[in-house]
Amino acid sequence: MSGTSVPPFATARQRERPAADSRSDAGGLPAHVRVAIIGAGFGGLGAGARLRRSGRTDFIILERADALGGTWRDNSYPGCACDVPSHLYSFSFAPNPGWSHSFPRQREIWRYLEDVADRHRLREHLRFGAEVRRARWDAASSRWHLETARGALTAEVVIAASGALADPKLPDVPGLDSFPGEVFHSARWNHDYDLTGKRVAVIGTGASAIQLVPEIAPAVSALVLFQRTPAWVLPRRDRRVTPAEQWLYRTLPLTQRAARLGVYLSREAAVGAFVAHPGLLRYAQRAALRNLTSAVPDPALRAKLTPRYVMGCKRILLSNDYYPALTRPGAEVVAAGLARVDGAVLHAEDGSAHEVDCVIFATGFHTTDPLIAQRVYGAGGVSLAQAWAGDMRALRGTTIPGFPNFCLVVGPNTGLGHSSMIYMIESQLNYIMDYLAALDRTRPAALDARPAAQRDWCAAIERRMAPTVWSTGGCVSWYLNAAGRNPTLWPASTLRFRRATRRVKLAEYDLLPAGPRPLQHRGARRRFPRGPRVRSTGRP
Ligand code: NAP
Repeated sequence: MSGTSVPPFATARQRERPAADSRSDAGGLPAHVRVAIIGAGFGGLGAGARLRRSGRTDFIILERADALGGTWRDNSYPGCACDVPSHLYSFSFAPNPGWSHSFPRQREIWRYLEDVADRHRLREHLRFGAEVRRARWDAASSRWHLETARGALTAEVVIAASGALADPKLPDVPGLDSFPGEVFHSARWNHDYDLTGKRVAVIGTGASAIQLVPEIAPAVSALVLFQRTPAWVLPRRDRRVTPAEQWLYRTLPLTQRAARLGVYLSREAAVGAFVAHPGLLRYAQRAALRNLTSAVPDPALRAKLTPRYVMGCKRILLSNDYYPALTRPGAEVVAAGLARVDGAVLHAEDGSAHEVDCVIFATGFHTTDPLIAQRVYGAGGVSLAQAWAGDMRALRGTTIPGFPNFCLVVGPNTGLGHSSMIYMIESQLNYIMDYLAALDRTRPAALDARPAAQRDWCAAIERRMAPTVWSTGGCVSWYLNAAGRNPTLWPASTLRFRRATRRVKLAEYDLLPAGPRPLQHRGARRRFPRGPRVRSTGRP
């Protein structure tokens, strides 16, 4: 890859190796399904598994790439692993007794998802190369009309699980097109390009960069790390899971459940520091500073690497080999952003210039402006991107007024800074399963979130967000949108989110009847007679 564009997903060439059998799928598209799921990562596969477990089989999983796995398929850079412990980074209904380490590696997670697809008979529902180009709600038929790269279909309900870390982000760097060497993003690793002996620039110091830098450092002749903001880095307490432990987990699954619960509780114990008492994070800051001091003897380099914001404001990073890699001969930390490129020379914001053969962008993802929002059109022909206008919001992280029968997985304010996203995904799946049950039970054609319910929900989130470290910690992070608001993270315990997503409150929805309606705007809707009105608490 060169220039400033990033391919939408990693091709087999960009991945180290395609998973053995993930490229086959069950054939053409049906004309109509009850549920269309977009994306075959943790969210989409989890939705499929939950549908099958509830006895529903009338669904399809549309995946734009040629394999399942989502972000764990696309991020194949050297050293890619998860910083959430293995036992917790899996579905509660699909434990994996075979994890090799306490922190799972990328290929292992990818294999795990392949296994989930097999165990829950999802292969027959999967369609690869089926990128959704447009999804349009048709009020007359109460159906979603989907146009995909493999043809068209309709669906009663759409579950969009296209992921928050799906579309790589490149900074707009003047002159990048003039660079004669190799350029790629960490999430589109070029495995055909040999870095041995090359002068390589890495742009960024987030979770991806700190994992890949130690892996490439021994091979390259020069490593230039462009660091705009130093990160807080804690030691990673990783170890091999012994065969005896694996045997125990396989033989007595309850023991793995207990281990999972232990990890969950220890992670959950930290939430108060993030959301209410950021001052407590100074204890962890001390451990991180000790980590830095012991690994980096040079005071000048140490000063460059010392963060100046409260720990937790950006994602806390875990590594034992990041700092040592930066002390190697040939490694240089440029404490400034990349400002412009002039041929093979990279100019930093501090005025320094660096000639390199290859540039690796570890610059993150489009998290607050997801691509899918530009492709989904709700009632009145308004796209989700237009409805959000740069400020994404959803009721209980899942549904949006004007987008009937449309559910997001990993929607606004469902992200975490302290625990496993899989737990949050499962909470959302509980909600979506109850949403489908509510449709079955009350038999409207569609449920449409009420604007007032979404407003109440978001206002409560806003109140909880104010004292969090993400708002007060003195940093700019990818959690924030252009307006400085945090539409990505959940500002409370995961248990609170679990409780808030246990059931769909029908009082938070308009129940739309089937059949043609003369106008599609909200005022023109016929409504079902209600039972007793339940006031929406909007309380997260
Ligand atoms: P990221 O956290 O968004 O980091 C992007 C980096 O690029 C930041 O350091 C940013 O600097 C830097 N940057 C952007 N433009 C730049 C420029 N012009 N010059 C220099 N630096 C520039 O991206 P990421 O590392 O890919 O991680 C994204 C998320 O993926 C993580 O937060 C995490 O949720 C997930 N992830 C998880 C794991 C895991 O172990 N679970 C591993 C990898 C990724 P600033 O800090 O100054 O903005």
